[in-house]
Amino acid sequence: MGEYSGRVALVTGGARGQGRSHAVEYARRGADVVICDRCADSDSVAYPLATMGDLAETVRLVEDAGGRCMSEVLDTSDRTALTALVERATAEFGSVDIAVANAGVSVASPVQDMPTEMWDEVIGSNLTGVFNTIAAVAPGMIDRGYGRIVTVSSMLGRAGNSNTAAYCASKWGVIGLTKSSALDLAGHGITVNAVAPGNVSTPMIHNDFLYKFMRPDLDAPTANDVAPIFTSLHAQPIPWLEPEEITRTVMFLTADGSAHISGIVIPIDAGNAARVTG
Ligand code: NAD
Repeated sequence: MGEYSGRVALVTGGARGQGRSHAVEYARRGADVVICDRCADSDSVAYPLATMGDLAETVRLVEDAGGRCMSEVLDTSDRTALTALVERATAEFGSVDIAVANAGVSVASPVQDMPTEMWDEVIGSNLTGVFNTIAAVAPGMIDRGYGRIVTVSSMLGRAGNSNTAAYCASKWGVIGLTKSSALDLAGHGITVNAVAPGNVSTPMIHNDFLYKFMRPDLDAPTANDVAPIFTSLHAQPIPWLEPEEITRTVMFLTADGSAHISGIVIPIDAGNAARVTG
């Protein structure tokens, strides 16, 4: 019997990266897991998003860890699709008790050059997608009087940075959405909290586009070439964290015993939090 035995956890963007790490850990701790991912690239995002193969691999890892796994290809900006998935999960697994609104994209462009499509993609995936996730799971959680929701913001949800207007706006927005949702759901046994990661070692930061954007002076920059720039964004002298470090905090926030922790933002950002208020 694991800590999450009898619980059902939904993780959006679960095909790879942090989402996969959360999904597998829920299964290790006894939960049944529901994952979704768009499994398609976006014209507005300059690095490859997850594939169907990635999604299938997470299913395999979750099942190997002992959990049942339901997976679906959907875009979290589509509220109807997310609501349908939660209905399907509730019908087959009995409930959705935990939701981690993790799916997101990153872009890099000065605000003055940003096409409307890029802005819409980032707000749709990173902010509307989080609203859609909360909206999809909240009614069932209210009926059962129990729920744990974690949203994924960023250290860029607490500060501005160059070339990140859309991303920062979406991640600041996630914090407002999280705190307001925590108040709306406070009387129903449901907590809503955010994690705010620093640089995390996933394909979102390890990709040719971002490497070249950071080191335009090099023809074919490598991880070693960009590591010092990533390190400068943290206070502790490390370029990036591992997804499992974020998972640990997600597990803490969604534990049964974290019943009276709601509306907070936990930075996991190698000390960058010391530089900002809040
Ligand atoms: P990732 O690119 O490996 O994973 C993101 C996943 O979300 C991908 O599988 C992608 O296909 C999926 N996705 C994107 N948009 C989607 C949509 N609209 N609908 C469904 N699926 C969608 O990157 P990651 O680092 O694992 O990112 C997870 C979350 O963490 C994101 O919200 C990201 O903004 C946030 N974050 C990442 C970092 C970092 O440095 N990697 C830092 C802070 C916050």
